[in-house]
Amino acid sequence: MLCKDCARYDAENRRCLDGKVNPQKWELAVEVANVIGLRTICVFNDHRERLVQARTVAFEEEAR
Ligand code: SF4
Repeated sequence: MLCKDCARYDAENRRCLDGKVNPQKWELAVEVANVIGLRTICVFNDHRERLVQARTVAFEEEAR
Protein backbone atom coordinates (compact mmCIF):
# COMPACT_ATOMS: atom_id res chain seq x y z
CA MET A 1 0.00 0.00 0.00
CA LEU A 2 1.15 3.50 -0.72
CA CYS A 3 1.05 5.90 2.22
CA LYS A 4 -0.91 8.46 0.21
CA ASP A 5 -3.78 5.93 0.05
CA CYS A 6 -3.72 5.17 3.78
CA ALA A 7 -5.97 6.65 6.46
CA ARG A 8 -2.97 6.86 8.82
CA TYR A 9 -1.07 9.23 6.52
CA ASP A 10 -0.76 12.87 7.50
CA ALA A 11 -0.50 14.48 4.06
CA GLU A 12 0.07 17.97 5.41
CA ASN A 13 3.18 16.94 7.34
CA ARG A 14 4.08 14.11 4.95
CA ARG A 15 4.45 11.47 7.64
CA CYS A 16 2.84 8.37 9.08
CA LEU A 17 0.74 9.06 12.15
CA ASP A 18 1.99 5.76 13.60
CA GLY A 19 5.66 6.57 13.04
CA LYS A 20 6.12 3.67 10.64
CA VAL A 21 8.19 3.53 7.49
CA ASN A 22 7.05 2.09 4.18
CA PRO A 23 10.00 1.47 1.85
CA GLN A 24 8.86 0.74 -1.70
CA LYS A 25 11.97 -1.14 -2.85
CA TRP A 26 13.13 -4.50 -1.47
CA GLU A 27 16.74 -3.39 -1.03
CA LEU A 28 15.69 -0.39 1.04
CA ALA A 29 13.28 -2.50 3.11
CA VAL A 30 16.14 -4.89 3.96
CA GLU A 31 18.39 -1.99 4.91
CA VAL A 32 15.71 -0.38 7.10
CA ALA A 33 15.01 -3.70 8.82
CA ASN A 34 18.71 -4.26 9.49
CA VAL A 35 19.47 -0.74 10.71
CA ILE A 36 16.40 0.34 12.68
CA GLY A 37 14.48 -2.90 13.01
CA LEU A 38 11.65 -4.82 11.44
CA ARG A 39 9.13 -3.37 13.86
CA THR A 40 9.51 0.04 12.27
CA ILE A 41 8.27 -1.27 8.93
CA CYS A 42 4.58 -0.76 8.33
CA VAL A 43 2.29 -3.81 8.43
CA PHE A 44 0.92 -2.73 5.05
CA ASN A 45 4.35 -2.70 3.42
CA ASP A 46 4.57 -4.99 0.38
CA HIS A 47 7.92 -6.48 1.51
CA ARG A 48 7.20 -7.00 5.20
CA GLU A 49 5.99 -10.60 4.95
CA ARG A 50 9.04 -11.60 2.94
CA LEU A 51 11.30 -9.89 5.48
CA VAL A 52 9.64 -11.78 8.35
CA GLN A 53 10.04 -15.09 6.50
CA ALA A 54 13.69 -14.37 5.68
CA ARG A 55 14.41 -13.52 9.30
CA THR A 56 12.61 -16.64 10.53
CA VAL A 57 14.69 -18.84 8.21
CA ALA A 58 17.88 -17.11 9.37
CA PHE A 59 16.99 -17.68 13.04
CA GLU A 60 16.17 -21.34 12.37
CA GLU A 61 19.47 -21.88 10.56
CA GLU A 62 21.34 -20.16 13.38
CA ALA A 63 19.66 -22.43 15.96
CA ARG A 64 20.88 -25.61 14.21
S1 SF4 B 1 3.52 3.73 6.91
FE1 SF4 B 1 1.81 2.30 6.76
S2 SF4 B 1 0.35 2.94 8.34
FE2 SF4 B 1 1.78 4.62 7.97
S3 SF4 B 1 0.79 5.92 6.46
FE3 SF4 B 1 2.12 4.52 5.36
S4 SF4 B 1 0.82 2.79 4.80
FE4 SF4 B 1 -0.24 3.93 6.40
